[in-house]
Amino acid sequence: MQIRTLSTLECTKLLMANRVGRLACARDGQPYIVPFYYAYADNRLYAFSMVGKKIDWMRINPLVSVQIDEHSATRGWKSVVVDGRYEELPDRTGH
Ligand SMILES: Cc1cc2nc3c(=O)[nH]c(=O)nc-3n(C[C@H](O)[C@H](O)[C@H](O)COP(=O)(O)OP(=O)(O)OC[C@H]3O[C@@H](n4cnc5c(N)ncnc54)[C@H](O)[C@@H]3O)c2cc1C
Repeated sequence: MQIRTLSTLECTKLLMANRVGRLACARDGQPYIVPFYYAYADNRLYAFSMVGKKIDWMRINPLVSVQIDEHSATRGWKSVVVDGRYEELPDRTGH
């Protein structure tokens, strides 16, 4: 197995080319991970969600980790992990 570090450009391309990631958050030392759809723009990941466990947890602890991967036709794969901070956007903008 050959492992190499992806360049920043390769990481950005992978984030732009994909739509599904795995979002990990944590509360009181307990991790919680769910798949989610995202859009990448300006070095940020955007997503939509109803209120539920993950939103409740991220409101308490906004530190999150997101993992996105890509598989080739052979056995190759690429994987990017993004560590970041959850920020809640209002339902509507402009008014
Ligand atoms: C490929 C894929 C893409 C997804 N994309 C998104 C996304 O973009 N945004 C998003 O919010 N969620 C998405 N999900 C679902 C997500 O992974 C979670 O299961 C879901 O968001 C509930 O998380 P929660 O912490 O709010 O759970 P909870 O607080 O336990 O649930 C909140 C509410 O959602 C319901 N619910 C829980 N799990 C699911 C489920 N798997 N399917 C349907 N309803 C469920 C519960 O019954 C409850 O009413 C996706 C799942 C998959 C497989």
